[in-house]
Amino acid sequence: MADTKVFLLDGGSLVLDGFHIWWNKGPGGEVRFPVYSVLVDHPKGKFLIDTGYDFDHVQKVLPFEKPQQTGQQTIPGALKLLGLEPRDIDVVFNSHFHFDHVGGNKFFPDAKKICHKDELPQAARCQPFEVLGYSDLAFSTEVAEARGMSDQLTMGQTGANTKYELIEGDVELAPGVTLVYTPGHTVGHYSLLVEFDNRRPLLLTLDAAYTRKNYDNDINAGFHIDPVAGVNSMRRLKQIEKEKNAEVLFSHDPESFKDYKTGVNFYG
Ligand SMILES: [Zn+2]
Repeated sequence: MADTKVFLLDGGSLVLDGFHIWWNKGPGGEVRFPVYSVLVDHPKGKFLIDTGYDFDHVQKVLPFEKPQQTGQQTIPGALKLLGLEPRDIDVVFNSHFHFDHVGGNKFFPDAKKICHKDELPQAARCQPFEVLGYSDLAFSTEVAEARGMSDQLTMGQTGANTKYELIEGDVELAPGVTLVYTPGHTVGHYSLLVEFDNRRPLLLTLDAAYTRKNYDNDINAGFHIDPVAGVNSMRRLKQIEKEKNAEVLFSHDPESFKDYKTGVNFYG
């Protein structure tokens, strides 16, 4: 679409061991990596894909990930840089419900919210090895209550303002904005393809591939529910990259991120 613009909202950074980022491959050792959300400013509305992490939550529950986040790297701060407020966002779509993708959902009580049909029940009854991933439950009263963590609901969340529209398979969110179903990292994980009139498409892997090295070598992240599905999802993304001649952006790649457009700079 002629007027589509894609902004990456810098959400600060976290630390993981290299063996977590590149599962069974490494090398080990601390890696500090970026976290960001994606704003698609489209003629049909403003679509926010993921909402970063909540600094206080990470300090409290996962302090070993050593969060670094300035005021401008919170979701309201990053939107303000663009002259926007949370109420300007029409749709919040979550690629999945890991804590570093849902932390700002609570700022959008009025936006329409969308996710894969299996992500909510999985977050509510996750596997033991997924507990840290699905640890910030402020995005849903239903999930927080199911997990006995209603104390996280401190922003006036209700069943009505944390209700999600459920989707499955590939879905066109708006003309030229396609949610690409890429399970493996989580049961209902999505990547994002954005097509423009005047530039190459953007293919955002989101957590189907944290980094270029994951993607090029079919290496899952340590956080996953189905590693075989994860490898197949990376292969599918590479097929789409080829078919569409897309520019690929990774979700947590410290090297690539340096060259990404952030803040007021945009793709479009
Ligand atoms: Zn994740």
